[in-house]
Amino acid sequence: MNPILYTLAFVLTPCLLFGSDPYPLNPAIDVQHYAFRLQLSEETNQVKGKTVIEVLLKNDIEAFSLDLQNETANGGMKVTELKVDRRESTFSHNNNRIRINTSGKAGETIRVTVQYEGIPQDGLIIGTNLFGEKTFFGDNWPDRAHQWLPTVDHPSDKATCEFIIEAPIYYQVVANGRLKEETVLSNDTKMTHWIESVAIPTKVMVFGAATFAVDHVGSVGSIPVSSWVYHQNKNAGFYDYAPAKEILATLQDIIGPYPFEKLANVQSKTKFGGMENAGNIFYYEKSVSGERRIEGLIAHEVAHQWFGNSASEKDWHHVWLSEGFATYFTQVYMEKTYGKDSLQIGMKRMLPKIDEYHAKNPTSAIVDTTIIELKKLLSPNTYQKAGWVLHMLRKQVGDEAFFDGVRTYYDTYKFSNALTSDFQAVMEQASGQQLSWFFDQWIFQPLLPELSLSWKYCKKLHKLSVEVKSPGLSKLVRLPLEVGIKGADGTISTIKTIDVFGESTSVEWDIAEMPTGVVADPNVWLLAKVKVVGK
Ligand SMILES: [Zn+2]
Repeated sequence: MNPILYTLAFVLTPCLLFGSDPYPLNPAIDVQHYAFRLQLSEETNQVKGKTVIEVLLKNDIEAFSLDLQNETANGGMKVTELKVDRRESTFSHNNNRIRINTSGKAGETIRVTVQYEGIPQDGLIIGTNLFGEKTFFGDNWPDRAHQWLPTVDHPSDKATCEFIIEAPIYYQVVANGRLKEETVLSNDTKMTHWIESVAIPTKVMVFGAATFAVDHVGSVGSIPVSSWVYHQNKNAGFYDYAPAKEILATLQDIIGPYPFEKLANVQSKTKFGGMENAGNIFYYEKSVSGERRIEGLIAHEVAHQWFGNSASEKDWHHVWLSEGFATYFTQVYMEKTYGKDSLQIGMKRMLPKIDEYHAKNPTSAIVDTTIIELKKLLSPNTYQKAGWVLHMLRKQVGDEAFFDGVRTYYDTYKFSNALTSDFQAVMEQASGQQLSWFFDQWIFQPLLPELSLSWKYCKKLHKLSVEVKSPGLSKLVRLPLEVGIKGADGTISTIKTIDVFGESTSVEWDIAEMPTGVVADPNVWLLAKVKVVGK
């Protein structure tokens, strides 16, 4: 996700207060599949839903619960019928949870059918688009799927899904997966059926319905790439979204096979800048300019297809495994496409946001279990700083081990869930290095080092002395700082590394000629605020 519009989003939505990822996980059940059938109307915002849920029982149960927003004066959903394996079941629906009274044995799969109706308060955004036409867009992150879909609304319980949407005939409907059927039901109603055969988290299970113009851009291998834009934006939108094909090809080469059946890029009313819905990415309405301004945004959302949608965080506090990866692999895409300078420029551009956030939240680490509001997990820590951590990890282990490790991590946790420790273990294996110090200082500590570097040159002995002061820096922290030494022509002729630790670190290097200057971190590899204070 890209949070350009994030602040706005949570002004417009109810304040969601949670404990420390307090979702009441139920290890006794594992949802296998959702079939969401929804009827949409032009005249009202009322939707009628029928969801069939296949649930694998991991333990014997007497009852279990699903999430679905209750009906209130402001909207919400009313359950009209509930069946378990075709027999009506008693249930209660309170506090946005449906408790289903049914018993079962471990190993059984039961089918729960929930019929419901109501006006979604959130999650399914129903309204008029910027051209005044009615549209419907799912917008589930982080846990807003249950506003309109009966689900286990937590990323740890992934499932395959299908959307069967009945809508006025002039709507086109795009959802996760592949298009299975499109049938005219009557003079004014059409049914569109999409099936996603890859297990995905509820945060990225959505459909969109609007009067789109659709561009079938082409394929990358067997993966079709398409653009869905408001028909009034056809030419500009097709132009702006078309780079998704090259982005997909580039990232696939770097990370591994793309996990989903197709890639649709959709102009939408998502409250975010972009939302990485699986194979069905939604972008904000004004993403269309006709000037290709959103290449980085597309790259971010496409990178999420591997990181976040396929290999997902197991716990919300490890959301950097989605956002940090999407942020960094956007930069890696830029590097592969436009060269090394683009990577360095991109990394430098992130620094002010990291610095500003750190100044306001000096004790907050990337994994910060004290954060209780999910929206606050989206921050420069989990995006830009986490992207920087991956960049530094690449420097620490080298390109070969880094990209091998990332591919192995993805391959190991695709269609599944991971924690930071899982990623660390894979990277240790790939690099042959023990990396707990690295993950501890950068992921679990609120580290943003401030260093001052001074240097002097002894002409007689041809020695360059460098001292780095870092007040308050723990001796447990390791900071490999590259130092560029400028020769007579003013360009960097030599790069040396000083391993900074503790409050003061000094080195002496043999340098034949008097340097004309010294540059800290010339190749942009260390997240630190470094001042060079002169001779
Ligand atoms: Zn993102």
